[in-house]
Amino acid sequence: MYVFKFGGASVKSADDVRNVADIIARYKNIPLMIVVSAMGKTTNAFEQLTEYYFKDKEKHLFECFSKIKQYHIEIAEELFNNIDSKFINSLNNKFKFLETILKKPHSENYNFEYDRIVSIGEELSVMIISYYLNESNISTRWFHARDIIITDARYRDAQVNWDKTCKAVNNVLLPYFSQTTHSSSQPLAITQGFIGGTAAGYVTTLGREGSDYSAAILAYALNANEVLIWKDVPGLLNADPKLVKQTVLLPNISYQEAIELAYYGAKVIHPKTLKPLLTKNIPLRVKSFYEPGKDGTLINNNIKFDDQTPSYIFKFNQVLLSVSPKDFSFIAEHNLSYIFSEFAKYNVRINMMQNSAISFSVCFDFDRTKTPALINGLKKLFHINCLYDKELLTIRHYKKANIKPFIKNRKVILEQKTCDTLQLLVKK
Ligand code: ASP
Repeated sequence: MYVFKFGGASVKSADDVRNVADIIARYKNIPLMIVVSAMGKTTNAFEQLTEYYFKDKEKHLFECFSKIKQYHIEIAEELFNNIDSKFINSLNNKFKFLETILKKPHSENYNFEYDRIVSIGEELSVMIISYYLNESNISTRWFHARDIIITDARYRDAQVNWDKTCKAVNNVLLPYFSQTTHSSSQPLAITQGFIGGTAAGYVTTLGREGSDYSAAILAYALNANEVLIWKDVPGLLNADPKLVKQTVLLPNISYQEAIELAYYGAKVIHPKTLKPLLTKNIPLRVKSFYEPGKDGTLINNNIKFDDQTPSYIFKFNQVLLSVSPKDFSFIAEHNLSYIFSEFAKYNVRINMMQNSAISFSVCFDFDRTKTPALINGLKKLFHINCLYDKELLTIRHYKKANIKPFIKNRKVILEQKTCDTLQLLVKK
C-alpha cells in the first residue's frame, strides 16, 4: 500500500484536480490511502476568517466567507458538467454549517474555534476531490480524519494518541481495504490532512503544514510500503531555487540527513513527519505532480553514505547577541545554565553559538516580542552587545562547495565548522 499526500498547490484549480486523478490512475491495482490538504491558499483564508470572527468585523467576515465559498463552487462547477444536485446540496450544507458557526457568538477558546473553522478547508477539498474521482470512474470512499487520527485536546497543536489512532485505523480503514482488495475496483481511500479528533469527537488540527504529518501517521498505522508527497518542485533540492540560480536535485538521502537539513532551516520534510516513518523504516518519496514519471527524491534508511552534494541553507533576519558576565566570571557551567534557561523560557531557538573565556555569542531568528524579552532577562547578569539583520548561511558537505559567490561583498562575522557542516554569519 502507498500513502499519497497532495498539498494545497496540487489541488488549487479544476485543472490541478484533474491532474491528481491522472496521477492516481497511473497506480492501478495498488491500494492507495490518499491524504489531501485544503485547496490552494484556503487555510490562510480560513485563518483570516477566524481572525475577523474574533474581532467582530462582521463586514469583512462575510466578505471573506463569500470569497471562500465562491472559490470552491467555481472549482466544482468547472469540474462537473452536470453537477448532481445532491452533491451541490452537500457542498452548500457545509457552507451553511460554517455560516451558522460565524453567526453565533464565539467561545473564549480561540484555538478551539480555529480548529472548528479552519478544518473545514480540508473537508471541502476531500468532498470535491472524492466526488470528482468517483465521477471519473476511480472508485473511492472518503473518511473523516477526525475518526482515525485520534489526538489530545491541544487545539492547533494536537498531539497524536498512537494507540487509539492505530486501533481506529484497524477498525475503520483496514476492513475497507481488505474488502475492496477482493473486489474488482482499485482499493482507494481518501481523507483530510492536517485534521485529527479528540476521543470525545471534537475536531483538532496538527499545526500548519500538518498534512505531511497526517500522511506519515497513516503510513505508520497502516504499515504502508511507501509515502509519496506530491509537490510543485521536482523533489528535494540542494538550495532554495529563489535564492540560488543553479540547484541540484538530491535523488536519495537518509532520514538522518533530512533531519539535519531541517534542523538548519531547510524547508524539507519536518522531522515530526520523518519520525514515524523512520520507526517503521517506511521510505518517503517527494515527487513533482507536474512530472509524475520522474523519480524525485527518495528518503530512506538504505543509504550508507549520503550523497556529498553540498546543500545551502539561508536564514535571514538573524540576531547576533554577545553576552559577557558583569562580575567578570568565566563563561562556564553556572553562567551557561542561566543563559540557556532564559532561551528556553522565551522559547528562542539557537541557530549557532560560540564562546570565549568571558564572552558568549549566539545567533537566532529575530522576533518582535521574544527578542526584547530575552535581552531584558539576560541584562540582569550580563553586558549585552547586539547586532541585527544578519544572514546565516549553513552549508552541509561544504568541502565540495564553492563558497565564494555567497560571501562576495560580505563580511563574515562568525564562523563555525564541524566535519560536515560550515556555518557563516555574514553582514552586507
Ligand atoms: N492546509 C494546511 C496548511 O496549509 C495543512 C497542510 O496543507 O499541510 O497548513
